[in-house]
Amino acid sequence: MKRNRMFLIALVGLFLVGGCSTYTEPLIQVGTLQGLLAGEYEGTVTLKDLPGSGWYGMIGLGTFDALDGEMVIIDGVCYRVPTTGHVTVMKPTDTTPFANVACIDHASEWNMWEHDVTDYASLKKYVLSQIDDPTRPYAIRIDARFASVKTRSVPKQSKPYRKLIDVVKTGQVVFDIDPDPKGWLDAPGTIVGFYFPPSFKGVNVVGFHLHFLTADRSAGGHLLDFKYNWTKNPAKIQLAPLDKKIRWVGKKGEVRESSHEEIKAIEQGK
Ligand SMILES: [Zn+2]
Repeated sequence: MKRNRMFLIALVGLFLVGGCSTYTEPLIQVGTLQGLLAGEYEGTVTLKDLPGSGWYGMIGLGTFDALDGEMVIIDGVCYRVPTTGHVTVMKPTDTTPFANVACIDHASEWNMWEHDVTDYASLKKYVLSQIDDPTRPYAIRIDARFASVKTRSVPKQSKPYRKLIDVVKTGQVVFDIDPDPKGWLDAPGTIVGFYFPPSFKGVNVVGFHLHFLTADRSAGGHLLDFKYNWTKNPAKIQLAPLDKKIRWVGKKGEVRESSHEEIKAIEQGK
């Protein structure tokens, strides 16, 4: 009896500590990839209505009203990387048409340098090998000193909105974040994002969708590639399974058929 009571007290304690619980966390979702592809850029949800704002362990990505730059959420702080590259912290009253947010407080952790991860392709391979249930979404966070990082951002749009594929093809700006191309200086920073299973097609990018921000919060964007030199630097990969059921904020998304080429173009920035 006494043991049962202790267990109950411990359980209550878990709910009271911090922002995130120890149970499988939900994927919090605003809008759909399909809506974004079709040019639905109007912000529908204010940032203050995204659960977990300001909480340690909350990560996320997306974009803002009028497709005004790339969203990167690290520890509950929402940053924007516009095409000028000048990173700003967003206001709670700013809005988003598309975002994915989740808690990654209780994740499995690995050292990147122990697993031959040297770039985006080898990272995907390694993370896939660690995913127990490929029918589930996963939240991913990597803190490392990167040799270099390649990202992109998209320019703010005005109405009538063009389709996302046209914006990416004609207007995206690519950033090569490399503080010292010939030397030994690194780009310390954080990659955050998600693995989405095939059942999430249309709602999100199937496979990996990651964004990046430097440790000094001066550069970042939608991740296209990175280089990591394992001989020099420790680096931590965190991976947390999420609920299969999406927690919608704002209107529940509906999915129609969408073009494979369009999704590929958005993911890879070409
Ligand atoms: Zn992105």
